[in-house]
Amino acid sequence: MKDWSKAEWVDQSLNWKPREVTKLPERVIMDHATKCNLRCPMCQVWGAEENDVQEKVKGVLNLEESRRILDEVMSAKPLIHGALYGEPLLMPDFKERVRDVKERGMSLALNTNGLRLTNDYAEFLVEQEVDAVFFSIDAASKEALLEVRGVENLDKIEAAVYRLMEKRGDEPLPRIGVSFAIQDANEDELEAFVERWGTVVDCIRVSQLYENGKFRGLSGREEREPCPVIYQTLVIHNTGEASICCNDAFRQALVGNVFERGAEDVWNGEEFAKIRYYHETNQYDKVPFCEPCNAWQQFDYEEEVKDGMLIRRSPQLTYYNNIERLDNWHESLSGGHENPNAILEK
Ligand code: SF4
Ligand code: SF4
Repeated sequence: MKDWSKAEWVDQSLNWKPREVTKLPERVIMDHATKCNLRCPMCQVWGAEENDVQEKVKGVLNLEESRRILDEVMSAKPLIHGALYGEPLLMPDFKERVRDVKERGMSLALNTNGLRLTNDYAEFLVEQEVDAVFFSIDAASKEALLEVRGVENLDKIEAAVYRLMEKRGDEPLPRIGVSFAIQDANEDELEAFVERWGTVVDCIRVSQLYENGKFRGLSGREEREPCPVIYQTLVIHNTGEASICCNDAFRQALVGNVFERGAEDVWNGEEFAKIRYYHETNQYDKVPFCEPCNAWQQFDYEEEVKDGMLIRRSPQLTYYNNIERLDNWHESLSGGHENPNAILEK
């Protein structure tokens, strides 16, 4: 790790002792294609009413550049997320891009709206042992689905979940989950949603909604800490520009271009070091993108075993994990948290 503590932008009176940073990130979010078949009102990119918002960020990550990135990071075996603000099943060369990750021995997680999950794709995801597939549903009724995702075909999305489960059969992977982002239009359905899917899928993810630079409804502790995200995750937009955070849809917190400099150089580079310095020395006002954010609390979590589920709850996220299906929750999917089976053994 390069020592930035004597850089000219460091205030020596603060006696900054930089935290350890890994040579390469534990998690890489790759924006293979900012392209989507839905227009969810909650979506920072596709929910915007003005088309020029989408024009600014839509695009496809060059396949050869994507391979170069994977070649570079594979020694650290990071968890790769295959999409940022896009539906992964719509990315060009989808199968090649999935194979590129799996052939290099890395884990791959996908979040999909499920509407394009054909039998062929479902078989492919099982055959490739994609590590996790989460279906973003956000509703227990088609009325709520219409409000949060702009479509009514809940049956079709639910059928996609069952299709993938059927193709997986008794195989361990993918780990299959459904997700629910709480908002005004669906909050009354949260309980029904958890009841609906609790014994069906491996995991339910419930999250607060990100809007206006922060997550709604977080009531964690007041005293702030450096955000864990900036020590774990590198976000790569389809232009090769790297950002400090997956919430940065519009590339306001960039730290370099991996096409030009490579992932390791950007991850350990001066721009990213400065962001970490400001976090570590409590100068959040110097990182305008992070200043209003409250997601640094996401790693304060509690656990409970109830109704056949291991429930992991933080101010931002709650995971309901089916205890019968914990074995496929392997280390690189755990987001740096304790192994779930170890928790149950306590
Ligand atoms: S499916 Fe995802 S990427 Fe597409 S509009 Fe909805 S939230 Fe945005
Ligand atoms: S503080 Fe918020 S905006 Fe900044 S990196 Fe963490 S999650 Fe992202």
